[in-house]
Amino acid sequence: MEKVVALTKRRGFIYPSSEIYGGMSGFYDYGPYGVALKRAIRELWWRHVVDLRDDVVGLESTLVMPSEVWAASGHLTNFVDPLRQCLGKCKKRWRADHVSGDKCPECGGPLTEPRLFNLMFKSHVGPLEDSSSEVYLRPETAQGMFVDFRNVLGSTRVRVPFGIAQQGRAFRNEITPGNFVFRLREFELMELEYFVKPGQDDESFRYWRDERMSWYVDVLGINRERLRFYDHPKESLSHYSKQTTDIEYEFPFGWGELEGIADRADYDLRVHQERSKTDLTYLDPETNERYLPWVIEPAVGVDRIAITILLDAYDEDVVNNEPRVVLHLHPNVAPVQVAVVPLSKKDELTAAAREVRSSLQGRFRIEYDQTGGSIGKRYRRQDEIGTPFCVTVDFETLEDKAVTIRQRDSTQQERVKIAGLADRLTELIG
Ligand code: ATP
Repeated sequence: MEKVVALTKRRGFIYPSSEIYGGMSGFYDYGPYGVALKRAIRELWWRHVVDLRDDVVGLESTLVMPSEVWAASGHLTNFVDPLRQCLGKCKKRWRADHVSGDKCPECGGPLTEPRLFNLMFKSHVGPLEDSSSEVYLRPETAQGMFVDFRNVLGSTRVRVPFGIAQQGRAFRNEITPGNFVFRLREFELMELEYFVKPGQDDESFRYWRDERMSWYVDVLGINRERLRFYDHPKESLSHYSKQTTDIEYEFPFGWGELEGIADRADYDLRVHQERSKTDLTYLDPETNERYLPWVIEPAVGVDRIAITILLDAYDEDVVNNEPRVVLHLHPNVAPVQVAVVPLSKKDELTAAAREVRSSLQGRFRIEYDQTGGSIGKRYRRQDEIGTPFCVTVDFETLEDKAVTIRQRDSTQQERVKIAGLADRLTELIG
């Protein structure tokens, strides 16, 4: 983990937020390569969950929502973690379910009895700070989909079964943020609420478990052996859930949740219907049946996927008798898919290389690297940020109108005519 954290900072993926002021625990910024990685993750999720299907539509609801929403959903009372504080030397706070016994894991001091701590960030809308102006930053995007359910039904042609998908920031005042971007206080969620007819939830639940697992393996290229399903036992289910399965990854600190897939029954629509006194039922146009749909929810954090991808891809090997650090990123998620590198800084070469760059731009995520340093050094830099292909423009290029494609994993090289370069790269990237 330390090696990956150091690499992400050194190479411009992830930095501590407000670092020159000492940083803030649980908050991180994304640098240029981190932004590209996150965008790729978001786009691939949207492509597979929304665009390639005809039964899911998108939504963007606000980050700030009134307290009635959170009272109805149960978050005001149930979105709490049990907190214990050390009364000894270190005064550290712990999540009670993360410690065993009554002694502080850090300094051995006594711990207070657990007390419940609500994880939502509270604020006020307008100049008056009284209870009528209380609002909360959303700790999940899901409630937006339930609160807007009627609007979506009334303004589109969706028919059960269908889904509403949303990506966006969420905020949780975690007691113990940590493990880098695994547990943050501000993070980004991608959630699908898939509405089905009551009684058809089991089938849909199984479908989404498998669908989501294949996305990680086939689309993001994550190692299947480091992924597993974890079915929550009935007694530890959240207040809204009928059944929940996590997709877990084997992190350096142990198996941890990557994504949660929950069968929320009709809990959310029912509580919002009651509290808002608004009819949220669905009328089946064929059978004329009226009912509250049940919902299956696959939910995952972009940051958590990002750290999983980076850990999964990190490797150290030896190439030409020299040790190298390499990220074996799948081309789908690599921040740079193709780096164009002229062999030297000579004008004829850089001009030709820039032309090659222009011919690829827009089709791939490109970087052009003519900075000083040997070609080997530039390849190693690209290896470290996970670039699967380098295209090298050399003196022969000026004669034969061909370039060399160098593959990151095998370091194999092949000569390709510039005219066929984009097609060959498309073939390699898949
Ligand atoms: P936990 O019990 O570990 O605090 P949870 O089970 O409440 O978490 P969910 O509400 O199921 O978490 O969150 C859905 C997904 O959102 C998680 O699978 C994870 O990918 C992501 N996620 C949740 N909390 C955080 C966080 N603090 N930082 C980053 N990602 C998070």
